[in-house]
Amino acid sequence: MKHNFGAGPGILPQEVLKQAAAAVINFNGTGLSLLEISHRSAEFEAVLDEAVSLVKELFEVPSGYSVLFLQGGASTQFAMVPYNLLPEGGKAAYVESGVWANKALKEAKYFGTVDVVATSKESNFTYIPKDFEVPADAAYLHITSNNTIYGTQLQQFPSSPVPLVCDMSSDIFSRKVNVADFGLIYAGAQKNMGPAGVTLVIVKDDILGKVDRKIPAMFNYQTQIEGGSMYNTPPVFAIYVSMLTLNWLKAKGGVEAIEKDNLAKSKALYTEIDRNPLFKAVAVPEDRSHMNVCFVAENPEHEKPFLKLCDEKGIVGLKGHRSVGGFRASIYNALPITSVHVLIETMQEFAEKNK
Ligand code: PMP
Repeated sequence: MKHNFGAGPGILPQEVLKQAAAAVINFNGTGLSLLEISHRSAEFEAVLDEAVSLVKELFEVPSGYSVLFLQGGASTQFAMVPYNLLPEGGKAAYVESGVWANKALKEAKYFGTVDVVATSKESNFTYIPKDFEVPADAAYLHITSNNTIYGTQLQQFPSSPVPLVCDMSSDIFSRKVNVADFGLIYAGAQKNMGPAGVTLVIVKDDILGKVDRKIPAMFNYQTQIEGGSMYNTPPVFAIYVSMLTLNWLKAKGGVEAIEKDNLAKSKALYTEIDRNPLFKAVAVPEDRSHMNVCFVAENPEHEKPFLKLCDEKGIVGLKGHRSVGGFRASIYNALPITSVHVLIETMQEFAEKNK
C-alpha cells in the first residue's frame, strides 16, 4: 500500500474506493452500473439527497442556506461568485493569500472593481495577511481558508461587515467552522470530500438576487438551487463517491473527531521538521496549515536523494508545487497517522545517512 501525500486529487478512504468499485459494476443490487442509470431515478435521487443531508449534518448548516453539487471545479466558482454577487459598477474585496486567491480575483475583474485589501505576494505567500480593513460598500469579502501551494491556513476567520465568501477547497470538512459566519463557501471535492468532478457550494439564500445582470442558467445559483443541483445531468459518480466519503467521515465521529486526528498528524510532522537539521518549514509558524505541510531541504542537493528514499518507502506525492519547490506533505482526512509516521521515520533515516 502506498502512502499517498498527493495534494489533489488526494487520498480517499480504502473502504470508500471498494464501495465505489462495487457500485460501478452493480449499484445497490439493481443489476445496473451506477454509471448507466438515470440521474432522475429514485436510486440516484436518494444518493443526492443523502449527500446534501450529510453536508448539512456534518457541517451543521443552519436553515436559510442551500447546498449545491456543481461542476466546473473551484475555478468555475472564481467566476460564478462575482457573476452572482458583484453588481454592475460595484466592488468586491479580496485577500490575496496565494495563486488560487489571485486567480479568483482576476475572474472578479470581469464583473466589477476588485479591491485587494491585503496581500502576502511580496513574501511568496509564506504567511496569511491579517490586518486589513474591509470597505463597508464591498459586495463581499473573498478569502481562501487554506493555501494548498504554500501550506498556510487561516487559524481564525476575519470578521467582515459584508458577506464572507470562502474558498475551502483544500480544508473543507477537516475542522469545525461556523457556517453562519459565511455568505458562501465553495470547495472542489477532490481533496477532502471525494473525487474530482464535483464542487460543493453552500450559499446563504438571502445574499442572492441582488445583481441586475442576466446570468446564464448554468452559472446562476438560483437556477441550480431551483433545480436541486439537477438543472442538467449532474456528475453522478463524483456525487456518489462524495456521499460515501461523507458517510465515512460521519462514522469516524464527524468533523470534530477528524479535526483532532488532523491536529495530531500535523503536530507530529512539524515537530520533526523543526527538530531535523536537514529540513526547514516554509510557512510562518502561526499560519502553518494542518492539511498541506510545506518544507524544504536546507541543502538543495538533498532534495532528489530524499525523494528517492521516499519512493523506496512507498511515499508518493511529496514533491512541492513548482512555484515553491521542496516538499509538500498533504495530510488530508483520509491519510492515516501511520503514513505520517512512515514519513517521519524516513526523514530521520535520511538525516542519519547524511550526517
Ligand atoms: N482553490 C484552491 C485552494 C485549490 O487548492 C485549488 C486546486 N488545487 C483550486 C482552487 C482549483 O480547483 P479546481 O481544480 O477544482 O478548479
